[in-house]
Amino acid sequence: MQDLTIPEKIQMVDLRSQYERIKPEIDAAIQDVIDQTAFINGPQVKKFAEELKDYTGSGFVIPCANGTDALQIAMMALDFEPGDEVIVPAFTYVATVEVIALLGLKPVFIDVISETFELDVNQLESKITDKTVGIVTVHLYGQCSNMEEILKIAQLYRLKVIEDTAQAIGAVYTFSDGRKAQAGTMGDIGTTSFFPSKNLGCYGDGGAMFTNDPVLAEKLQMIANHGQKKKYFHDSIGVNSRLDTLQAAILSVKLKHLDRYSKSRNEVADRYDEAFSDLSKVQTPKRVPNSTHVFHQYTIRLEDYVDREQFKKYLADRGIPTMVYYPLPLHLQKAYLEYGGEEGQFPVSEALCKQVISLPIHTEMKEKEQQYIIQQILSYFQ
Ligand SMILES: *Cc1c(COP(=O)(O)O)cnc(C)c1O
Repeated sequence: MQDLTIPEKIQMVDLRSQYERIKPEIDAAIQDVIDQTAFINGPQVKKFAEELKDYTGSGFVIPCANGTDALQIAMMALDFEPGDEVIVPAFTYVATVEVIALLGLKPVFIDVISETFELDVNQLESKITDKTVGIVTVHLYGQCSNMEEILKIAQLYRLKVIEDTAQAIGAVYTFSDGRKAQAGTMGDIGTTSFFPSKNLGCYGDGGAMFTNDPVLAEKLQMIANHGQKKKYFHDSIGVNSRLDTLQAAILSVKLKHLDRYSKSRNEVADRYDEAFSDLSKVQTPKRVPNSTHVFHQYTIRLEDYVDREQFKKYLADRGIPTMVYYPLPLHLQKAYLEYGGEEGQFPVSEALCKQVISLPIHTEMKEKEQQYIIQQILSYFQ
């Protein structure tokens, strides 16, 4: 007999239990910062940047205040000018397109691939004009986009590539020649976020940029720090975007556990995959052959005739939270209508916004808890 009593409160992400497991390490790291009182640009920031550099294999890591700033600073460092066009998927979190528009650049939307949610490289060339300067690809939900093709096309047309790695830190991509590289380290600049619920999350806001180019690294660092290399001497217009020392200290501790976290997420994903393999109304997330998956989200697609709202409510009534990432594609968002605005322009993104639903997945999920979720979903479709 399956035990179908509702376990303790199920959460999309269980940050509390995650903290409990590493409490002594985290508490000591926080206390250390307070004892030293170097709250801004303390030694922990540099230390964490070094550790993340070693972990990712990136040439340089430049910490900043959040993942959105990271994208903005990246585009500033690449000297994108107002009116320049930047290609960006229509199906992603708003931050990616927000900073493009904010800098007076023109977002040019591109559709994604239904099974893998990644930017559709086959459409890339049709989006390129003489104004195109860059491509922002998003490693959505935790696996890398088709970097080999993206980099090939970018090189052909002399475009810059920014990898939005906010959801995929630690994912590893394998090129056809066997070379391996981590998400965020393959394009001109990679960006990431340490928002608490991200795979490497701090206890507030945080972000970072990756590059292998020393000139770009210096520019990124300078822009993030008011455009100054030397204090009070400003060479370019910059912003104030710093990673707090407290957050850096927390991240140093959590980085040591990141591989374990990715492994736990994969175990949860494997169990979902197996449980739903026979459900014709549910498409489980497809893994691309060239990338490992770190499952920031476990996102299923429901067949068109399945009523997502009803399914969501059914699960909520049984204590199971779900989320829809994302309910409306960017070209149909009120703020960005001028860059799109028409239904049918990006059919895959539009369909996904109606079909996707993300299930609870996190580093502390207990097997019993997941069995309960699985049983409820299976009975819904029986
Ligand atoms: C979370 C996220 C961001 C933004 O990160 P913040 O730290 O919240 O600014 C950007 N892009 C994607 C794809 C994200 O998931």
